[in-house]
Amino acid sequence: MKKILVFGSSNTDMVIQAEHLPLPGETILGGKFTMHAGGKGANQAVAAARMGGNVTFIAKVGNDLFGQQARQQLINEGITTDYIITDPDHPSGVALITVDNKGENSIVVASGSNATLSPADVSGAIELINSDTIVLIQLEIPIPTVEYIIEQSNSRGAQVILNPAPANSLHKEIYNYLHLLTPNETELSLLTNTIVTDIPSAEQAAQILHKRGVKNIIVTMGASGAFWYSGTDSQLIPAPKVDAIDTTGAGDIFNGVLCVFLAEGYSLPEAIHYACQASAISVTRMGAQSSAPYREELLPGKT
Ligand code: ADP
Repeated sequence: MKKILVFGSSNTDMVIQAEHLPLPGETILGGKFTMHAGGKGANQAVAAARMGGNVTFIAKVGNDLFGQQARQQLINEGITTDYIITDPDHPSGVALITVDNKGENSIVVASGSNATLSPADVSGAIELINSDTIVLIQLEIPIPTVEYIIEQSNSRGAQVILNPAPANSLHKEIYNYLHLLTPNETELSLLTNTIVTDIPSAEQAAQILHKRGVKNIIVTMGASGAFWYSGTDSQLIPAPKVDAIDTTGAGDIFNGVLCVFLAEGYSLPEAIHYACQASAISVTRMGAQSSAPYREELLPGKT
């Protein structure tokens, strides 16, 4: 089985439930407060580890309690954390989230140490990359660092999967180095300057990215599942029908699980099928990272 290296963000999410979202200048008394580990990078690493992947997570946390807790939770999930750097000058990333009684939210993220992860910071981890590695990365860390990791991974023979979230543009050369790009419909619209609402519009937009050099595009389409386009093949892999109660982190779980099945040598449509199954389980539970299923839940009786 190939090794999975996840480069990305680590945050602590602080969530307060409230009757309504506060207006500018308004102070309201909220209800329940919960605090949990988040950040797209960490969420994807946890999803991959729970699915049985051999996962190393590379990130930068602050020299504070949040950073220590984030690291410990990743260790508890069986993730290798040797390449997580501590930033002496900036605090760990945090997200302040208010959720109202209709499920609407407002979120402010202070990226903190995530925003200082530099190419020099990841140079040790880059040495781990070879053709037996899958590299998974998102866009919550500085773009020059993302581009450096992708270039290095490509030249060392690794398959690179980029989850372009939140959407941001990359140097056009970089698209040639991507084995897989996994936008959701909104990100695909932003990346291609088109409006993606259904399969035909997703296919047209995917063609644009394929022409830029991306080998495979997987568009995650919520309850509809995921659409795969490779230039020669295209296929919608449907999502199982479930009663969704919280879709936060569904895309992260999809990406983490996808990597594991690719690392095990499954074909792309098979890996997408398992990623759809796992993310469908996650939307039936509250939370992002905490809702990631374990392998036993997906494949009972098989290890
Ligand atoms: P993101 O979380 O990035 O916005 P999506 O909403 O497209 O991404 O969700 C990612 C994947 O999670 C989908 O491709 C699908 O497999 C699964 N998923 C999301 N919402 C549902 C749902 N309501 N029912 C079943 N599966 C879902």
